[in-house]
Amino acid sequence: MATSDISFDQLKQRLEQEHGLLAKELKHEMLLNTLVPSATAIESAELGELMLMAKSSFIPNLFDLAIRMEKVDAAVCSIKLGMYGFCVDCEDEIELADLQDDPAQPRCKSCRVHSRYHHNA
Ligand SMILES: [Zn+2]
Repeated sequence: MATSDISFDQLKQRLEQEHGLLAKELKHEMLLNTLVPSATAIESAELGELMLMAKSSFIPNLFDLAIRMEKVDAAVCSIKLGMYGFCVDCEDEIELADLQDDPAQPRCKSCRVHSRYHHNA
């Protein structure tokens, strides 16, 4: 129990760190691609707004960045809600090994397998 608590905290730390870095990179890339008029405009914009803009730009690099940002942002939100580490679909605990592979992993193994076979987006 004690050891898994420690790694849980570490995972959360990694997530928050990645969240900060991604936000910075996303803003930087958006400025480079002139999706926003100025650095001031980007600083006053909501992160959700920026992610939407980045996704609808269809610039591959920016699109990937926004998708990752969205995933990490959702995980950071779930920490605040006390729901971190629980599957968004079935609410079972996500295995620690899976979270160590990707701290932003939102689904348990069986739901991931399920969505892979039933994915029609
Ligand atoms: Zn699940």
